[in-house]
Amino acid sequence: MNDLYDLGIPHPVTPYPKLIINAAITGMIPTRKNSPHVPLSPKEIIEDAVRCIRAGASIVHLHARDEDGEPTYRKELYEGMILGIRERCPEAILCVSTSGRRHNSFDCRSAPLELEGKAKPDMGSLTLGSLNFPEQASVNTPEMIEALALKMSERGIIPEIEAFEPGMIHAVKVLMLRGVLTGPLYVNILLGSLYASPATLFDLSCMVKSLPPSAHWAAAGIGRFQLNMNTAAILMGGHVRVGLEDNLYYDYARRNLATNEQLIRRVVRLSSELGREVAKPCEARAMLGLPSGQRQDRESWDMGMRRSEKIGRSMSGK
Ligand code: ZN
Repeated sequence: MNDLYDLGIPHPVTPYPKLIINAAITGMIPTRKNSPHVPLSPKEIIEDAVRCIRAGASIVHLHARDEDGEPTYRKELYEGMILGIRERCPEAILCVSTSGRRHNSFDCRSAPLELEGKAKPDMGSLTLGSLNFPEQASVNTPEMIEALALKMSERGIIPEIEAFEPGMIHAVKVLMLRGVLTGPLYVNILLGSLYASPATLFDLSCMVKSLPPSAHWAAAGIGRFQLNMNTAAILMGGHVRVGLEDNLYYDYARRNLATNEQLIRRVVRLSSELGREVAKPCEARAMLGLPSGQRQDRESWDMGMRRSEKIGRSMSGK
């Protein structure tokens, strides 16, 4: 955030940063029965991600599903999706899930963080505490959170911090003090889940006010609260997470199902009406301190060249 904002000078006198749109397109829960629009196979996810990026998203939050549409941590599926999206949108910021709702061992949860070269994710999700969802509990012990955060820091992956209630923002500070969270901070504030903080402007404001000043933040609303929380974030200088992972409907009251692209386009329209430009993926990379996608390409190309030179040398007996 900037100095004028910290002094309480309101928008539009305080110029806000360009809006980073994070598209959460699949998630763990929605099935084909819930909506025909949820992308499930790697091919569907790649196509949908590309549509969302072209519509204005700069981050895509990925969950892999297996052949039966069930959530999986298998890294070859993440690899296929990341390479497929990068081939067409090299600057897009790609975030993998480390959710423990189905598989709660460190090896399973950290598997997608192991990907190398061009398939290495830019970000990984990191929920900073345990909570109850209507379907099940999401258990994130302090040891697990710390181990995942350290793995990300070791690998140069930025955590997409998920905070469902104020205690999880306090945990950000504890982990900063302990030297576990050291890099750029990007905090998603997710409100409106049945057993966590409700999606009110009061709750959102309190959580935003308690963030470390250096943090970038985004707001997400679960289900019927998505549009309200996204709009509030645009007005407050935050960023937005939107997509079918959190909400299946374009119009919740009428139960009109949405596509991910429609949800992104609505946020882009709102943002433009409310006087905020939308960040392109390369601009979002600069804001979050990530290397440019082109450089990343270059690095993985260099790595590939070194590897093939090595293979060449060993084949020629050098
Ligand atoms: Zn997720």
